[in-house]
Amino acid sequence: MQRIAIIGAGVAGLTCGVTFAERGHRTTIFAREVGRQTTSSVAAAIWFPYDAEPAERVIAWSLESYRILRELVAISGTGVSLVELRCFARAGELPIPEWAHSLGAKRLHTNDVFTSGYKVEVPVIDTSIYLDYLTRRYSAAGGELLHGAALRDFADVPAEFEVVVNCSGLGARQLAGDAELEPHRGQVVVVEKFAMPFAAVCDDPPLMYAIPRTNDCVLGGTNTISDNCTPDPADTELILREVELALGCSLPPIREVRVGLRPYRKSGIRLARTSAADHRPLIHNYGHGGSGFTVAWGCAGAVLALLNGRD
Ligand SMILES: Cc1cc2nc3c(=O)[nH]c(=O)nc-3n(C[C@H](O)[C@H](O)[C@H](O)COP(=O)(O)OP(=O)(O)OC[C@H]3O[C@@H](n4cnc5c(N)ncnc54)[C@H](O)[C@@H]3O)c2cc1C
Repeated sequence: MQRIAIIGAGVAGLTCGVTFAERGHRTTIFAREVGRQTTSSVAAAIWFPYDAEPAERVIAWSLESYRILRELVAISGTGVSLVELRCFARAGELPIPEWAHSLGAKRLHTNDVFTSGYKVEVPVIDTSIYLDYLTRRYSAAGGELLHGAALRDFADVPAEFEVVVNCSGLGARQLAGDAELEPHRGQVVVVEKFAMPFAAVCDDPPLMYAIPRTNDCVLGGTNTISDNCTPDPADTELILREVELALGCSLPPIREVRVGLRPYRKSGIRLARTSAADHRPLIHNYGHGGSGFTVAWGCAGAVLALLNGRD
């Protein structure tokens, strides 16, 4: 068993934390921010491979996560449930991706707004419940979490840790000096819960989604390259207009408007074993873009394999 330091307490760091701690590794998470302060807390989040590369690896990690998330549906307090996801296109024919075929996707009838679409049953992860669930599960397995631990360099991780796992999301721009990372700004409007028996996504521009959760509904969205985390009223208006058009109903009152920066990496998710300047093994796991929840368990399994010396 090894002494492992994980940098980051978003969905990537917490999922790795649970994976290692439950296998008996002595694990400590170092995190500048936790919970609502993280990008992970802004996501709705629906299981849906989106805005992350390379496609082949993303789909493999996503399907592995799908399997584990489905198991969590049966456990109370996880915030994971199953929902019918309806994917639409506003123009042309939307092909059913291979991964959706493998999950039993079916064609949808079109209407005045959409020219084609399909439906498929997927997990929806209520981040307002799930991040706390992961944190509790991690602590119960003996994991330690140090909040407010902002690292400037991998060498800041104390020498007692034999392995460092970097799950710092967009923070890897500075920490790993990675110029490949791009902030893909996403704004969401959280509204009061209303009767919505399915989730809807249209990812031809303007991006539109509506996701029912346990206590509210999350409406989105935007995807532009920007570091600006301040909500934009024009984006709010656009989101509400597109969702109303798609669902054909008026929406309940707004609870809050939030912005998060998807950690997109141009050359693809970085999941690789390297060495830090002090020769300690350093495993990177960041750059999950718009799919952090969708790939988290698959990626954590791949990090574990790298820890054990397998590719
Ligand atoms: C609006 C929006 C909607 C989304 N919807 C979905 C969805 O439906 N489905 C889906 O799968 N994904 C979705 N995503 C994407 C998902 O949220 C991200 O891919 C995911 O949150 C990334 O997780 P992470 O743990 O890598 O990063 P983060 O959540 O950003 O966590 C990074 C952690 O690293 C820490 N850190 C960074 N630098 C340092 C440092 N130097 N020292 C110490 N700690 C450091 C931070 O404090 C934080 O704890 C969405 C994102 C947005 C913005």
